[in-house]
Amino acid sequence: MHKTIVDKKVSRRTFFKHTAGAAAGAVAATALLPGLKETGKLIADTVKVNIDNDTLTMHNDLQRALEKPIEQRKWAMVIDIRKCIGCHGCTVACVAENNLPPGVTYRTVPEVETGEYPEVQRIFMPTNCMQCEKAPCIEAANKIAKGSMSRRADGIVVIDYKKMKGKKVFEAASKACPYPKSLWYDEGKNYTDGTPMVQPYEKRKAKEYGIEWSRADLKGTTRKCHFCTQRIDAGVLPACVTTCTGQAMYFGDLNDSESLASKLLKKNKSARMNLASGAEPAVHYLDDDPEQTCMVCHS
Ligand code: SF4
Ligand code: SF4
Repeated sequence: MHKTIVDKKVSRRTFFKHTAGAAAGAVAATALLPGLKETGKLIADTVKVNIDNDTLTMHNDLQRALEKPIEQRKWAMVIDIRKCIGCHGCTVACVAENNLPPGVTYRTVPEVETGEYPEVQRIFMPTNCMQCEKAPCIEAANKIAKGSMSRRADGIVVIDYKKMKGKKVFEAASKACPYPKSLWYDEGKNYTDGTPMVQPYEKRKAKEYGIEWSRADLKGTTRKCHFCTQRIDAGVLPACVTTCTGQAMYFGDLNDSESLASKLLKKNKSARMNLASGAEPAVHYLDDDPEQTCMVCHS
């Protein structure tokens, strides 16, 4: 579990005063000056913080997975709803990472109320495409536009933007998908349409699936979460995972029993949404009692 320096009851001023001394190479002085002992402990704890840091662990898990052949990786997203604070930071990170236009939000964070007064609670359920093992969207889309959707050897469900064009194929895939708000239609709009100038940040190319796409390329396509393939293939964790304020989001390889994602699923109660659909989603939710929260809507 991630620990923070704030817990150490050392003021920011004291920290900088003492670390400045340490930076001058005063390792021996740490033993001589009582005030610096605290600094030494603080630095040691800081190093420990880095070693314990979940993000670093997931990063190392990712590097390990990338050393294996792609078909031996089984990516999963694990979301701890006890830690989600509903800040929508993941949504914003996703929009920025994938240069998403108006009307397209790969990641949503619905708020759900459960229970009856006075035993009520509100939970946040970060949601995106579930990268289903038996994804019904693929067959439905390919009936309309051959080769428009497929599943990579590591399980990520991908879209060929050159082939998945038009509302007909979007509607077919959406109808087949058991999870609402997984697929989005790109109307080709920009946030700054109708202003004196469409801003450069909106015209920049989206780098999804390892290719650069202009706004013109993407107009009329179906879009969805792809576990940030452009990042994970390069050894970088998904944008929503690294941005999560509550550290509620995890990502890793379930074929690796030592990955943090695997360990979290082993240690905690978890649930996957709408298993009755048979789609076998790759997004897992952690909670103390999923039957009373997640499963209230998704049994
Ligand atoms: S969540 Fe929907 S769009 Fe995503 S893979 Fe599953 S069926 Fe397809
Ligand atoms: S994995 Fe990437 S594409 Fe998917 S919701 Fe997170 S940021 Fe968006």
